[in-house]
Amino acid sequence: MRVLGIETSCDETGVAVYDGELGLLAHAVYSQVEIHAEYGGVVPELASRDHVRKTLPLIRQVLDEAGLAPNGIDGVAFTAGPGLIGALLVGAALGRSLAWAWGVPAVGVHHMEGHLLAPLIEDPAPDFPFVALLVSGGHTQLVDVAGIGRYRILGDSLDDAAGEAFDKTAKILGLPYPGGPELARLAERGDPLRFRFPRPMTDRPGLEFSFSGLKTFALNTLHRELPIAADPMQTRADIARAFEEAVVDTMVIKCRRALRETGHRRLILAGGVSANRRLRERMDTAIVAEGGETFYPRPTFCTDNGAMIAFAGWQRLRAGQSEPLAFRPRARWPLEELPPV
Ligand code: ATP
Ligand code: MG
Ligand code: FE
Repeated sequence: MRVLGIETSCDETGVAVYDGELGLLAHAVYSQVEIHAEYGGVVPELASRDHVRKTLPLIRQVLDEAGLAPNGIDGVAFTAGPGLIGALLVGAALGRSLAWAWGVPAVGVHHMEGHLLAPLIEDPAPDFPFVALLVSGGHTQLVDVAGIGRYRILGDSLDDAAGEAFDKTAKILGLPYPGGPELARLAERGDPLRFRFPRPMTDRPGLEFSFSGLKTFALNTLHRELPIAADPMQTRADIARAFEEAVVDTMVIKCRRALRETGHRRLILAGGVSANRRLRERMDTAIVAEGGETFYPRPTFCTDNGAMIAFAGWQRLRAGQSEPLAFRPRARWPLEELPPV
């Protein structure tokens, strides 16, 4: 079975074709980052309009690259939520209509299930069960994963999501939008010993996260240090490094805890922040030392993409799940509400 996947939940248009036997046949992502850069954040209405312009041409491109005509597609998967409602509507309306015109089934995919299953596209893929750390622009969740659609949230963020914390701290440091990857780049030149930031909520039991205090800590450190800094750029790099170390350390501590509590030995990381090199290094060392195993998507499948939606959709369509012509995108949609496969 060959599935066309369409992702339009935020500011990336992603399209891919996943083949149940051959794997990924083609994929492409168009990022709107330049459109939103001058506003310092995603402008929902501009996002929807650009998806309208880009989605169909991207579908044509991906079908061409896969060497497929529309009759080579057996099912269509589109992101149905959570995300920006106008942006979701574009991909959902287009995906549902194409499926109807082509006479194939369609399925609405949960965006975070897409992220969560992305490591399964890679080789070697993790077996179930595992613990998933989902760290993206809007989410920070530890999930006990028994199988596809069998998710139990172990811990969540009480305030800023991990990616949001990276982006806001980057802004404080004067880095261009979107700041997460920029901050990570700057941190590589930073001295890890100059500043020490707190590890929020690690001094008590539990798997909850809270990252908003770190952003304030960065701001206060910057205000205190900049006036007396001999090398302001180095001070910024040192703050970036201290921030990154604190976030990474906190995640390592919580993931170790989650593995102990569930008794699982496999850990997967997914979502934009899982592209972070320092996070991967530190997590690998810590988890392997305890006899565990880590899995990640390739960096381009950490951030939003169509491949993860095509893959998650294929998993559900091949299990016979699909939906009627009336589709219902959802801005909010708890992961635990998904049906098992
Ligand atoms: P969600 O998936 O929760 O709806 P989203 O789709 O906007 O949110 P993703 O595309 O998964 O999020 O990830 C984007 C986030 O990842 C941004 O906040 C970005 O700064 C962050 N990010 C990307 N690369 C890195 C990196 N190398 N280090 C830290 N953060 C990163
Ligand atoms: Mg994005
Ligand atoms: Fe995402």
